[in-house]
Parts: sequence; structure tokens; C-alpha cells
Amino acid sequence: MPIRQLPEDLINRIAAGEVVERPASVVKELVENAIDAGASRVHITTAGGGQSLIRIEDDGIGMDEADLVLSVERHATSKLADDGLEDIRTLGFRGEALASIGAVAELGIASRRAEDTSGLRIAVKHGAKSRPVPLAMNRGTIVEVRELFGNVPARRKFLKTERSEAGAITDMVKRLAMANPHVQFVLEGADRTTSNWPGREGDGALRARLGDVMGGDFGDNAVPLATMRHGMVVTGLAGLPTYTRANSLSQYFFVNGRAVRDKVLVGAIRAAYADFVFRDRFPVAAIFLAVDPADVDVNVHPTKAELRFRDPGAVRGALIRAITEALDAAGHRAASTVAE
Ligand code: ADP
Ligand code: MG
Repeated sequence: MPIRQLPEDLINRIAAGEVVERPASVVKELVENAIDAGASRVHITTAGGGQSLIRIEDDGIGMDEADLVLSVERHATSKLADDGLEDIRTLGFRGEALASIGAVAELGIASRRAEDTSGLRIAVKHGAKSRPVPLAMNRGTIVEVRELFGNVPARRKFLKTERSEAGAITDMVKRLAMANPHVQFVLEGADRTTSNWPGREGDGALRARLGDVMGGDFGDNAVPLATMRHGMVVTGLAGLPTYTRANSLSQYFFVNGRAVRDKVLVGAIRAAYADFVFRDRFPVAAIFLAVDPADVDVNVHPTKAELRFRDPGAVRGALIRAITEALDAAGHRAASTVAE
């Protein structure tokens, strides 16, 4: 076969497969956009495990007409002022999410800025974009995604049951809510239950939010972390050695406000608790690291769920130290000094 230049809608569908793995990844991208837009309230509604409907409403800054039209184009972002990738402080920056979602679903975006008298709505179905039409709405943005993967049967087949996709959405929203305690989260589940976590302010904000999301008894069975070392700040809560689970799913990690999964971090927890906890038990933890953006590469994975530390050993050392000190202060002294 001769080489051919692929048409844009096919390029978008291929790219979409990387950013939009499943309904929960759509929820992640849209909620992160709401947070990047400065929302103080995010309302999430889903139906059919997110496959028939995902709707995210925020009260953020909104978009004007030009931005609304551009927002669904590929590689269009308001978050990279220049061409540097070293100093990213927003959750998004690739400018790919909305274009990708629009390529594999029926996407509607309505938005209104505070200074405008009415909003505008555009729709994209399988890559085809409609003109903006006026719409009465409050300040902020409403994104609706219907019939996700309607034009990608292969991807649809890979989805799990409605229930387990809904579960993945809930887990994703929990992570986003833990990372953003000052934002109110309302999650209307398909099972007709609604979680409503009020925005938390002040010193106890994180602890209160972790209680909201992980259950009150976690706070009662955990020690607070608060250390700074080599310019790295570690905060959050680490469970007492008696408060464990059979797997590491209840260990939540956040780096610079972004929920991540990372072997270095899981390994550091294991090492910190080595003297207290059996090898097949996993302490519950919600750990927040603030590092210099230049010391971490979030650009390794399209969904940014994985990252690479410039100096993994230093991160491991700082985390082990933070946990051992906190446990020590609570009367759990390690028998051996944990090596860094
Ligand atoms: P990225 O977040 O990487 O910039 P997206 O495709 O997710 O890319 O969004 C494209 C652009 O659309 C954003 O840079 C932002 O300017 C705008 N945008 C998306 N969602 C919202 C929202 N909820 N509120 C305001 N602006 C938004
Ligand atoms: Mg985004």
C-alpha cells in the first residue's frame, strides 16, 4: 500500500483512544478543565456508567465565543502561554481532551463568562462541529457527552459492565475531590444516590475533605504528615499500622495537585511501615507531595496518571522520613532506622 496522509477526523479518532480510555477518563479531563477554570463548584451527572451521559457543570470563568469555538480544536489550549513545558501549573496543557471527546462522542459545550449577558452552546458529533447558538445560563460551563464511543465499536467492546464503569467514575471523582478540598463536588450517581462534598476552607480543609471522601474513621486512625525536605513538601494523612487493607487501592497519591499512580511512592510506603505491618497488608494513606515542577515530568503519559521524578531516590527518602517521623510522634517507633 502506498503511504497516505490520514484525514483529520481519523487522526483525531486515533488520538482519542489515548486520552479517552473509558468514561472515567472523560470525567477526569472535564473536571480538571473545570478546576483549571477556577470553579468553586463542580456538579457531575452520569448515566449508563458514563456511556450514555456524562454531564459536568461548573461555575468557573467560562469562555467567550472565539475561545468556545477553538476549545474543541486539537492542540488548542489557553494553558501554555509560551512553548516551555518546564513550568506547568495547570492540570491540562495538551489541548487534546475536548477535541478527542468530540471525535468519539456527541459533545455539547455551553459556556458563559460573568461579563456576558448570555451564554453560547456548540456541539460536535464525531468530529463535525456546529455553529455556536445563544443560550440562557449562569456563569460557567456545562459540558455534555452522550453516546461515548458510539462510532468506535472496538473500544465499546473493551468497556466493563455499566456498574464497574460507574465505580471507576466514582473513584476518579474521589481522587479529584481529595486533591481539591476547596471545591464543592456534587456527584449524582446512576444508582440515584448523590454525594455532596461542600467546599472546605482553612487549616483543616484537607482533613475535612478526606473525612468526607474516605469516611470519618480514617481521620481518627491516621497521623498527619507535614514535613519539608530538599524543597519537597509532604502533607496528608497516613493510616496507623493497625488501619490497613488487603491491597494498595486505598493508598492515594497526589503530586502537585494531580492524582497519580507511582511505584516509587507505593514502595516508599511499604518501606516506611516495614517494621509495623505484615507484607500482605497495605496501610490506608492519602499523601500529597509538592515538588518543584522542574523536578517532575508529567508528560510521560497522555492521561498524566503516571509521572517521572528527576530524582526518585530523594522522593522516596522524603516520603519514608515523613511517615516514620509522624508514626514515631504517635508512639510507633521503628525498630531499625529505615535506610534512605
Ligand atoms: P487543555 O485542558 O489541555 O487546555 P482541553 O481540550 O481540555 O485542553 O480544553 C481546551 C481549552 O478549552 C482549555 O485550554 C480552556 O481554555 C478551554 N476550556 C475547556 N473546558 C473549560 C471549562 N470548563 N471552563 C472554561 N474553559 C474551558
Ligand atoms: Mg483539559
